[in-house]
Amino acid sequence: MSKPVVAIVGRPNVGKSTLFNALAGEKISIVKDTPGVTRDRIYADVTWLDKTFTMIDTGGIEPDSSDIILSQMREQAQIAIDTADVIIFITDVHQGLVDADAKVADMLRRSGKPVVLVVNKVDSVQKFMMDVYEFYNLGIGEPIPISAANRMGLGDMLDEVIKDFPEDADTEQDGDIPKIAIVGKPNVGKSSLVNKLLGEDRVIVSDIAGTTRDAVDTRVKWQGKDYIFIDTAGLRRKGKVKEEIERYSVIRTVTAVERADVVIVMIDASEGVTEQDAKIAGIAHERGKGVIIAVNKWDAIEKNDKTIYKHTNRIREVLAYMPYAELVFISAKTGLRISRMFETIDAVIENQTLRIQTGVLNEILSEAVAMQQPPSDKGKRLKIYYMTQVAVKPPTFVIFVNDKELMHFSYTRYLENKIRDAFGFAGTSLKFIVRERG
Ligand code: GDP
Ligand code: GDP
Repeated sequence: MSKPVVAIVGRPNVGKSTLFNALAGEKISIVKDTPGVTRDRIYADVTWLDKTFTMIDTGGIEPDSSDIILSQMREQAQIAIDTADVIIFITDVHQGLVDADAKVADMLRRSGKPVVLVVNKVDSVQKFMMDVYEFYNLGIGEPIPISAANRMGLGDMLDEVIKDFPEDADTEQDGDIPKIAIVGKPNVGKSSLVNKLLGEDRVIVSDIAGTTRDAVDTRVKWQGKDYIFIDTAGLRRKGKVKEEIERYSVIRTVTAVERADVVIVMIDASEGVTEQDAKIAGIAHERGKGVIIAVNKWDAIEKNDKTIYKHTNRIREVLAYMPYAELVFISAKTGLRISRMFETIDAVIENQTLRIQTGVLNEILSEAVAMQQPPSDKGKRLKIYYMTQVAVKPPTFVIFVNDKELMHFSYTRYLENKIRDAFGFAGTSLKFIVRERG
């Protein structure tokens, strides 16, 4: 089920990063072997009561002159309007209500998106409450006083935020139709692929009307089945600052990936796989989505009998953190192996939702343990009692052991390989949770 997206918008220095960090806390997942993606805190998962959402910080680098602040804020607000389910608009009680706030508030109001207005740095409610009322003038609802630095008022704020979540994202009428995000660097061929799908005889298209977020969704019928493609290609922005453009593309990728069941990471065969591809693929990996690497423009390169092999090796090397990813070599231009791509999409979705019975799983486990002893430390050996699958999308397993500290990363990897040998799970990551049995 895809998580709602909440975006934080506000002028520089009002406390966006402080709020972001206060909410994200230690929960920011750091996947050590995924390059690049998680180092800058652009997005994080937050759980409040029983709701989990993806939070994005739209604020980028500090503008160096005040006249570009407004244009940057408009840019931020637009990203939020395009991508978020709920927008937190944050202002600063010390600086008071300024003109730029009013302009951005107008823009947010016109978008029709739910906005939660927050006034930060209210470190003392008694002292500042009169000043907080001033923010009613923005015309976007009741201002909620918080102190991000002191973690005050955050509960009230989050109550408002989750109130505005869509009922249940998955009960929309298209809830059962597989959603496929196409991500990749500029010019790899993302829009060409979508256009090809639209142009094929066998494909029937209907544009999905609706919110801004759906505007880039394309519904495609392939051999009698429906698919929704989420295309990030048309979303390129002209920005002056490199960091801003990168931040924007990360946000777009994250929100597209978040809504998808399967992610197609597109790579340009004529260029080969690059570090930038690895970063983009890392987002899909980190979110536990099904992943297909589509090596596009296969028509454009010279080939012999070793070409596929060479490309495969190189991709496996650069994307070493996702050995499970499926690979297809396609041409968006000629349509080469597009049907293979659809077959792979179907297979990956099946794998993402595969459930293994506990009995069968534990047969594999005992065989694996018999073949390779679990690790030990200071004379104490790891005992694995049993294992059970607790979730799908991605398939998630809980392993019950005598002592969590003894479970070594490499042993988990070993068990993962055994499970994959037995059940496949191609195209999907697997998640393991180690628990001590009391
Ligand atoms: P951003 O530019 O919007 O991301 O703002 P920052 O999070 O970097 O915060 C800007 C400044 O405001 C920093 O010096 C923070 O310590 C300070 N600040 C943030 N939240 C609060 C708060 O709740 N109370 C006070 N007094 N200062 C805060
Ligand atoms: P996007 O930025 O990822 O959406 O990439 P585009 O779809 O705009 O494609 C960028 C360029 O690559 C265009 O000039 C396309 O014609 C070209 N292109 C896309 N797919 C293919 C392909 O399969 N083969 C060849 N030869 N060119 C392609």
